[in-house]
Amino acid sequence: MTVTAVIIARMGSTRLPGKVLMPLGRDGRPVLHWVYTAARAAAGVDQVVVATTGLVGDDPIRAWCARHDIPCYQGSENDVLDRVYCAAAEVEADIVVRITGDCPFIDPYVIGEVVRLQKETGADYVSNIDPRTWPDGLDVEAFTFDSLAFAHEVATRPIDRECVTTFIQRNRSRLPAAAVVCPIPGLHKERWVLDTKNDYRFCSAIANELHGPPARYLDILAVLDRKPELRKINRHHPMNERYYEAIANEPIIPRSYERSQAQFERAHKVIPLAAQTFSKSFVQFPQPSPLFLSHGQGGVCWDIDGNEFVDLVSALLPNILGYRDADVDRAVRTQLASGASFSLSTELEAQLAEKLTRLIPCAEMVRFGKNGSDVTTAAIRLARAYTGRDRVLICGGYHGWHDWSIAGAFRDLGVPTAVKELTARLDFSQCPPDDLSNVAAIIVEPEGNPQYLQYLRNVCDKEGPLLIFDEVITGFRFALGGAQEYYGVTPDLACFGKAMANGMPLSALVGRADIMRKLEPPNPCVFFSGTFGGETLSLAASIATIAKMERENVIDKIWETGETLRSDVTDLIRAHGLGDVIGLYGQAPLKRISMKAHENATVDQLWALFRKEMIASGTLIIGSHNICYAHTQGDIKRVLKSYDHTLAIMREALDHDNIARRLEGATIAPMVRAS
Ligand code: PMP
Repeated sequence: MTVTAVIIARMGSTRLPGKVLMPLGRDGRPVLHWVYTAARAAAGVDQVVVATTGLVGDDPIRAWCARHDIPCYQGSENDVLDRVYCAAAEVEADIVVRITGDCPFIDPYVIGEVVRLQKETGADYVSNIDPRTWPDGLDVEAFTFDSLAFAHEVATRPIDRECVTTFIQRNRSRLPAAAVVCPIPGLHKERWVLDTKNDYRFCSAIANELHGPPARYLDILAVLDRKPELRKINRHHPMNERYYEAIANEPIIPRSYERSQAQFERAHKVIPLAAQTFSKSFVQFPQPSPLFLSHGQGGVCWDIDGNEFVDLVSALLPNILGYRDADVDRAVRTQLASGASFSLSTELEAQLAEKLTRLIPCAEMVRFGKNGSDVTTAAIRLARAYTGRDRVLICGGYHGWHDWSIAGAFRDLGVPTAVKELTARLDFSQCPPDDLSNVAAIIVEPEGNPQYLQYLRNVCDKEGPLLIFDEVITGFRFALGGAQEYYGVTPDLACFGKAMANGMPLSALVGRADIMRKLEPPNPCVFFSGTFGGETLSLAASIATIAKMERENVIDKIWETGETLRSDVTDLIRAHGLGDVIGLYGQAPLKRISMKAHENATVDQLWALFRKEMIASGTLIIGSHNICYAHTQGDIKRVLKSYDHTLAIMREALDHDNIARRLEGATIAPMVRAS
């Protein structure tokens, strides 16, 4: 097994020409020397080569390598994938370690760790950048030559040819990945890379404090401890800006879903629905479309065929900060080091409960569950016990999969008639009947219409049912304290879930203390209890989620992003003349989409075509804009491109009365709300 480090270097940087040969440190060694020395010193690296271009401008790099007896390969300027592939093929590398010439402080110890992890796991791709936990500028990626050859043969997108490993990273299902995670928190915010003049000033200031290459990251941190002001020199530089710009400007690329289809066949043999969640299964998406995801980052996800999507589903709303949020993930890892589930309660429970009582207006006490359905069901049982009444009034919305809640709705096969008779349904905004004498609770999703919510509040005060807000969606989205904080109407009980722990399974029943106390003896008390109620990874994730949301004003950003998207999508709908067919309603962090039948298309056909084309053009969407904090302007630009593409096709289908042909071969699923 030959492990070859390939240092990618060229003189023609637009921002800082000639950067790789700029002198650094007290004895003025060129940046490339720093990088080379580190790569050479790394354990497990057998040889180090430089890969540059054949351009005249790169003569100095070749000359420098020749002077120092360093193997140097020339290749394509823009097809860097080809350049690295050819260099690796020439030296017969089995494992390629990719390093870039603009990382003077790359640490041999970190390179060695990445190489070692590759060796131990046999993973096709091992890095310290996915997820990003290390300073920008310590980037190391090690991959098998076979995966490089595969990418070299198959990858066609310019971005993949230029960025070398994006194809490998995207195809995680085919090419398994592993990561070296930084043991020190918060270092992903550091910028130690050499890309601009300010970076050069920063790197020079650091290098002057070191004893020459190779650098060690702990030594750099020690310098920054002594001189924290150095960070100001090159702060606020957006990361990977050019990459995101390039992605946002890419034309729509064809996508295929063979692996998803094959996985579906396999899963369907052993899993009814081939999925655990209705709305994540084939019944929700017109086929063919992706059915299985492999990973996500921020507001973007990848399917098992390696297709990339801006994710406007956000896992059905748990991902409020985005996939793999560095702070939440760290909190989970830290807690994991102590254990996940325990034989008694832990201190985390009260810690989080106290936070929730501070944030949520109606919350005087708190109990935890795992799913939204757990806590809506607990709330109903509690309301029945507290009021001594049996009936439940649902004012629109979806509240989970349990008997009482799906009674009388779609798919209530298996719910006993006796239970069905106790649940009555109204549309949101409809007035309850006059006789509420046997009604224990009115439950509502408080997504809008504060006057209506206040009206329900008054009705409950007068007639005796408890008012329950199902804030499984609105909680941590409209405001940390939910819609009750946003609209200023306070229920008796409320149910939170979804976004509470940025993707970890956690829900909370909160409410008035006199009602919540009924959940404990003396008997008879209301029984609500589960093995995993106090599972600590989710509690730790939730504490970290709340801390970040408060610290970084996440709610405001989500409203802003949602509002920008709403306004631009509205313009596009108008521009395509589809205002009578598609509409947007609801609040900015969760804009819902509505379809109206057209003389040439049914609502179901419109939904199917909409989803098919949005997905085909790179936006995973069901029926709403599920905004997360990590959605960038570039992501939004890509979504708008998808909309433009989709609306043009819908317009054409309606004008030419050919929607059926457009949907040929695609299944059409009716749009229903469920989990
Ligand atoms: N209430 C609302 C408002 C929901 O949207 C959902 C899930 N979509 C639930 C309750 C049930 O939550 P879970 O699927 O986590 O049980």
